Formats: sequence, structure tokens, C-alpha cells
Amino acid sequence: MFSVIPIQPLFRQGDSPLGRPVDVLRMDKIHTVVSGNKWFKLSGYLQQAQQAGKKTLATFGGAYSNHIVATAYAAQMYKLKSVGIIRGEKPALLSHTLQNALAYGMELLFVSRTDYKDKASLQINIDPQNAYYWIPEGGYGKLGADGIRDMLKGIPVWDYTHLVTAVGTGTTMAGLIQGTLPYQKIIGIPVLNNQDSIMQEIKALLNDQQMEKDFQILPDYTFGGYAKKTADLITFMNQTYQSVKLPLDFVYTAKAFYGLNDYLQITDLPTDSKVLFLHTGGLQGNQSLPAGTLCY
Ligand SMILES: *Cc1c(COP(=O)(O)O)cnc(C)c1O
Repeated sequence: MFSVIPIQPLFRQGDSPLGRPVDVLRMDKIHTVVSGNKWFKLSGYLQQAQQAGKKTLATFGGAYSNHIVATAYAAQMYKLKSVGIIRGEKPALLSHTLQNALAYGMELLFVSRTDYKDKASLQINIDPQNAYYWIPEGGYGKLGADGIRDMLKGIPVWDYTHLVTAVGTGTTMAGLIQGTLPYQKIIGIPVLNNQDSIMQEIKALLNDQQMEKDFQILPDYTFGGYAKKTADLITFMNQTYQSVKLPLDFVYTAKAFYGLNDYLQITDLPTDSKVLFLHTGGLQGNQSLPAGTLCY
């Protein structure tokens, strides 16, 4: 756990069904519940909380938020308390995500969808003394991107010409843009309907020099929006597992990998290209699917 991130060679040069070799960075392997990229995004915030002598971490998320579980776990590891502000009224039955967060000692506060929109007011009402260390929703921010950039130092990233990731807040993609070399291209696949704003949010985390890098968003793979799915997506997930033993989650990585498959089928990349797909984790989210939906 939390050691070297394994790389799974998926398709090799010569026999790749997608025309070019593809490897997968298995960030999901670092822990069964704590989603890969969320862990790396949190490290800078944790350091800052410790430096400021804070005893409690607080953050925001929905009932299926990987960020909520990762924060709960990180707090427990660092012997801090944690508070999760959860969007929507408390359900009769808690999601697996929230059950996991509770098990890691997080206090859950449920707020209406209307109240959830005004995070600044919530923050003042819940923590009037400003005693908590507040992490932005989804870990969005420069510190989060720094954690992804630093993660790249531990892997042979120079070996790849294209790096591909799912995009939620865009923090992970921004970290990739920051940490890669001039000849590398970063491709991001948004999983929620934020196509109008996402490029701005990514650029807000970059400096002028990083802005010049080669990066692209493939906007057509949201499958209806956040945590929405189609029968086609589920079939794709099962087929991917059966053919190459790659387990994907339906909220993020399945959509991104689907997008990458399309991209490689319609794009004629230079012959020396080699793709690294980031498996950003999130597999715990599949627990909310009816039993038997997936073959893994
Ligand atoms: C949160 C999450 C993402 C999106 O990361 P951002 O940095 O918010 O864009 C991608 N994959 C998984 C599994 C996630 O949990």
C-alpha cells in the first residue's frame, strides 16, 4: 500500500488492437478503498494542515465521492478528526462510500442541495472559529495538482508520448500538464457535464509556460453526466475485463478508457507513440451497482 505504483502493459507494439502500445498506471492498486489520484491530490493539503497545527480536516462531497473516503482515510492515518459535508438529505441507507467514510471515523453532516451550493456560508456556520483545515471539494486546487506532478517523479514517464486521464475537477489533468515533458501530449476525458467551464478550471492551475503545452479535452464521453451510465458502457467494462483483465469503475475510468479506445481508433498517431492510461482508482464506486452487473 502507498508504495510503487505498478504499470500494467496492456497492448504491445505489433499486436495492439488500437494500433499503438498502451500501458496502464494502476493507481487503483495502492489501496482498495482510497482512490488512487485522490490520495496524491491530498498530500499537499495534509502537509499544510499539519504545519498550521490543525486537528480536524473538513471537506465537501456527494454520497459517492471518492474524495470523501480518501479524506476520511487520510485523516485517520494522520490522527486528525474529519468532517464531511455531504450534498443532499441523509438517506435511509447510506451508500458504501459513506459507510466507508464513517468507518474511517469521519463525521458526516448532510445539507440540502440548495445549501450545498453556498460553500462559503456553510463553512462559516459549521466552523465559525475557523478551527478546521478546509479542503476544497474534490481536492481541486494548486496543492492538489502539485501532488499529481510529484507522483510522476516516481514513474518512468519519459517513456510515453501520450498520457490520458479521466477529468472531474481537472486537478489531475493540470498536474499531468505541469509534470510532463515538451514532447508529451495530455488527453483528458471529462465525466461530468462541465464542458463549458472545465478548460478554464484546468488553465487556472497552470502558469503561462505550462499553458503552452499540448493538451486536449475529448468532451463526448460523459454518458449522460456524472455517475450516469448506459448498457453500452457496462458491456464495454465487462469486455475490457474479460479481454485484458483491467477492472474499471463506471463513474470515471470506464468513460475515460472508452474515450481513449475511440481516440486511438480514429487518430493516426506517429508510429513511435506510446500511451499511458492513468487508472485513477474509484473501484469502490462499483459497489453501488446491482450485484451481477459486472463480471469482476
Ligand atoms: C476524482 C476522480 C477523478 C477526477 O480527478 P480530478 O482531479 O478531479 O479531475 C478521476 N478518476 C477517479 C477514479 C476519481 O475518483
